[in-house]
Amino acid sequence: MSDKVLLVTGGSRGIGAATARLAARAGWAVAVNYTANSLAADEVVRAIRAGGGRAIAVQADVADEAQVLKMYEHIDAKLGRLTGLVNNAGVVDRAQRVEDMSVARWRRMFDINVIGAFLCAREAVRRMSTKHGGSGGAIVNLSSAAARLGAPNEYVDYAAAKSAIDAFTIGLAKEVAGDGIRVNAVRPGLIDTEIHASGGRPDRVEALKHQVPMQRGGTADEVAQTILWLLSDAASYTTMSLVEVSGAR
Ligand code: NAP
Repeated sequence: MSDKVLLVTGGSRGIGAATARLAARAGWAVAVNYTANSLAADEVVRAIRAGGGRAIAVQADVADEAQVLKMYEHIDAKLGRLTGLVNNAGVVDRAQRVEDMSVARWRRMFDINVIGAFLCAREAVRRMSTKHGGSGGAIVNLSSAAARLGAPNEYVDYAAAKSAIDAFTIGLAKEVAGDGIRVNAVRPGLIDTEIHASGGRPDRVEALKHQVPMQRGGTADEVAQTILWLLSDAASYTTMSLVEVSGAR
């Protein structure tokens, strides 16, 4: 059992995978959550173990309460009591105007991006809180620059879900500040991962990078570095922060 136990939701690819790898190097035992791509999750776990770190892969759809409860029981048994959570699992959808969107799309967008984060945070607080016999901890939520840009003509629903994550971060940070738990969010801008292909636009970073004042997309590792700092004791007085990682986008 380790005293630094971290769950990274959506840890199999992109920003989550970069965070899991970096966290393991910083001494965290890491639970790498995924929902569909077990091969990608296994590869992250294999790389961490090859570097001498501790990691397990855990399957769960973060929007499904029963699956999340089972995932946490598995982590309790295999790694010990959680002290860190990165609420990273998230999805976009095809670019559409609001007038063309379906209710099913909105439900999926909010179920995964918002309810999923609430569910995983609830279970984390139950384990971390000094009021529940825990030793405290840190939660980092993945918001997005979309929360302040609104993502018109692409995915206003995604932007609204990420705004909910901002409010969630502020409220939860205040609520658990006396329980030894810090809660922060990062707002990545245009980051080079497979999320853009899943929204039907694999070239999105290349096509939009001219809009970024730094004139380039960011890497998953650049976001992971900020997440790791927020998780660490170096950020011991930082809570309720929404940290931009967007090249000034
Ligand atoms: P990505 O490359 O598409 O990876 C998404 C990850 O989330 C995968 O590990 C995937 O698992 C997992 N996932 C998706 N739905 C899930 C569910 N229902 N339950 C559990 N896991 C689920 O995404 P990314 O670009 O790294 O994005 C990570 C986070 O950063 C997201 O919250 C995203 O909104 C946010 N963000 C990204 C950008 C960007 O430009 N990339 C910008 C701002 C914010 P499988 O491998 O099993 O599919």
